Amino acid sequence: MDIVFSCPGCHQELVVDAQGSGSEIECPSCETSITVPEADAANVKLHGASNAANKVDKQFVVPTYDQPAESLITKARPPLEKQKDGEKILRIKTIRHTDCKEVGHDAFDERVTEILNQIGESNIVSINTISYSYVDLSTKQLLADFGVVIIYKG
Ligand SMILES: [Zn+2]
Repeated sequence: MDIVFSCPGCHQELVVDAQGSGSEIECPSCETSITVPEADAANVKLHGASNAANKVDKQFVVPTYDQPAESLITKARPPLEKQKDGEKILRIKTIRHTDCKEVGHDAFDERVTEILNQIGESNIVSINTISYSYVDLSTKQLLADFGVVIIYKG
């Protein structure tokens, strides 16, 4: 920070780094010998932006920092969270045949059976078949495959 003061001889405004306070300097304008005053609230000037600009910056920074943090807390609750009091909501489970293929073994039926039993028969609303295409990673070919979409309450 700088100390801003006037030369007592010629009233030239002088700016000296605060580290120079107490030391004797020669006025560059009238060559009078002056002692640099101690830094105080009236004569201190911060480097770079003025005090007014600093206040604007702080007012801008504080609210943008606080507000999103608060709204994140309310949004943190996942929408598919289990409802209270055993209340069930509709959910969807998509099982693609390609996701169930294991090396030398097609686990699609086992996987679907497992999921159906996890859901429970009374919770199943509907089961629909889907067909989709995908790029096989080893052959780079576009292949068609199938899967099921289970809509259930849970
Ligand atoms: Zn002077």
